[in-house]
Amino acid sequence: MTNIILFGPPGSGKGTQAAKLVEKYNLLHISTGDLFRYEIGNNTPLGLKAKSYIDNGNLVPDEVTIGMLKNKVDSNPDVKGYIFDGFPRTIPQAISLDEFLANKDLTINALIALDVDDEEIVNRILLRGKTSGRADDNDRSTIQNRIDVYNESTSQVYGHYNEKELSHTINGLGTIEEIFGRLCSLMDTKV
Ligand code: ADP
Repeated sequence: MTNIILFGPPGSGKGTQAAKLVEKYNLLHISTGDLFRYEIGNNTPLGLKAKSYIDNGNLVPDEVTIGMLKNKVDSNPDVKGYIFDGFPRTIPQAISLDEFLANKDLTINALIALDVDDEEIVNRILLRGKTSGRADDNDRSTIQNRIDVYNESTSQVYGHYNEKELSHTINGLGTIEEIFGRLCSLMDTKV
C-alpha cells in the first residue's frame, strides 16, 4: 500500500492534483472537505455539526473529523492506498491517523506539500468561488481566516512528518500539468 498526505494551504490545488494521482496510481482519494460538503448537502447530523465551522473558515472539531475519516477508510479496505487530502490538519489528527494506520499494519509513506504564496491562494479561491457555490470561498475575511488557521496550526503537521523524514515540498505554481509532472517525479523516486 502507498499512503500519501497531499498537503498545502487552501486553494493550493490539492483536489485537482489528487484526481490526477488517483488515475495514475490507482489510489483512493479521501478529501475531508468533500466528505463534509456531502454530509452538509444531505442535512445529516454530522453535516449540521460541521456547517458553521466551515462557513466561518474554522476547523471542525477533531473528534468529529477523525471519526468521519476513520469510517471512510474502514468502509474502503481493498484499495492500493489512500491519498489523504485536507487531513490531517492538526497534530492530534496526525497522531490519530498514525495510530489508526499502525493498527492495520499500515503507515504514511509521504507527505507532499504544494507550495503556493498567499496572494495567489486568495486569487484562486475567489475565482473558484464564482462557480463553487461555497460560502467559504466568497468572503475575503473567511478566506484570510482559513489561511491564518493553516499558517498557525495546520502547518505544524508538516513538521510532524518531517521528523520522520517523510515530508516533501514541490512548487505549486505553474500549469496543472507542470505541477502534476513534479508530483509524479517525486512519487516515482522518493515514495
Ligand atoms: P480548502 O483546502 O480549500 O480549505 P477543504 O475542502 O479541504 O478546502 O476544507 C473546507 C473546510 O472543511 C475547512 O476550511 C474546514 O472548515 C473543514 N475541514 C476540512 N478538513 C478538515 C480537517 N481535517 N479538520 C478540521 N476541519 C476540516
